[in-house]
Amino acid sequence: MGVSPDFGGFELNRVYNFAAGPATLPLPVLEKAQSELTAYRDSGMSVMEMSHRSAVYQDIFDRSLSSLRKLMQIPDEYEILYVQGGASMQFAMVPMNLMSTYKKAYYINTGNFAKNAMKEAKLFGEVICPASSEDENYTYIPKLTEDMFAEPADYVHITTNNTIFGTRYTDDKLPPCGDIPLVTDMSSSILSEPVDVSKYGIIYAGAQKNIGPAGVAVVIIRKDLIGKVSGLPFMLDYAVYQKNGSMKNTPPTYAIYMAGLVFDYLLENGGLEWIKEKNYRKARKLYEFIDSTDFYKNSVRPEDRSIMNVTFVTGDPDLDKKFASEAAKAGLANLKGHRLVGGMRASIYNAMPEEGIDCLIDFMKKFETENR
Ligand code: PMP
Repeated sequence: MGVSPDFGGFELNRVYNFAAGPATLPLPVLEKAQSELTAYRDSGMSVMEMSHRSAVYQDIFDRSLSSLRKLMQIPDEYEILYVQGGASMQFAMVPMNLMSTYKKAYYINTGNFAKNAMKEAKLFGEVICPASSEDENYTYIPKLTEDMFAEPADYVHITTNNTIFGTRYTDDKLPPCGDIPLVTDMSSSILSEPVDVSKYGIIYAGAQKNIGPAGVAVVIIRKDLIGKVSGLPFMLDYAVYQKNGSMKNTPPTYAIYMAGLVFDYLLENGGLEWIKEKNYRKARKLYEFIDSTDFYKNSVRPEDRSIMNVTFVTGDPDLDKKFASEAAKAGLANLKGHRLVGGMRASIYNAMPEEGIDCLIDFMKKFETENR
């Protein structure tokens, strides 16, 4: 099944997939993987079949790391680790590895994942929550001021982009936390635009939105934050990952290979400035349309709107259901909103082409005319 010709059509038999993650991947990346699926270059075997200790795989692995370093301009003082267990395992690994001196950390509560991270941290030390947007169902990013971070602590944790609620931190909203290391869950916005890595102690992200398939998480960590706590289980110790080049045990070899293809695809096309321009244009178009009609509504404060996850409702839950189901029939898949918000959510990650947004807007117009 493809996209209905009424809405622009699409290559092959693919739909426009608005899923929040695992999410749509760039078609050229999938095609490249397909061309190398049964035999990688002259190795005579699939990447899936290779020993992670082989020279050919080590080369794939090392190139993926250097491509990511180049793409995000990650300074030498930072290590890049590949870890399994998703972003969720980082909810535990961060406090386990960082709560060393004060056994205390600040968590800003901007959504469900931020809350989950906070819950895990409480297992390992004291959590201070100086600001939360839970009072308004997470429709904004709280304003943070220096006085909120007066007490010394091991780190401050934020969630850059809130996948479920469709909000995100802009640079001017980052916590003014001075020397306290800033840790961020960047799962749903990493690689969507350039970031100044040097502002952070740790950036972590599950792969399954902008990086590649599920199965690996990327941890970009300032080297001085590694090895502060001893006696950790080895699979949960950043120092063990650093010492063993993320290969103390078998890494998710194929997911890392795919991530490398995505990094190279971005580099070859113009890097993060290139994708940023596309992402902002796509998001602007969709928000402008939503704001232009009273039939659809997005409740997020305009300055905090995510450029990756766009939420909207009609105000009538039955109509929302009908929207998602009719859209799916037209080849616009996975537009049903998260159960905590209801309505619709269009996840428009890097790999969603602008034509996908155009098709969605055309569909929204038609749906409005027929259901007003
Ligand atoms: N943080 C954010 C911002 C997310 O969007 C998600 C998943 N959608 C997670 C954490 C959890 O990630 P994982 O499923 O990789 O554990």
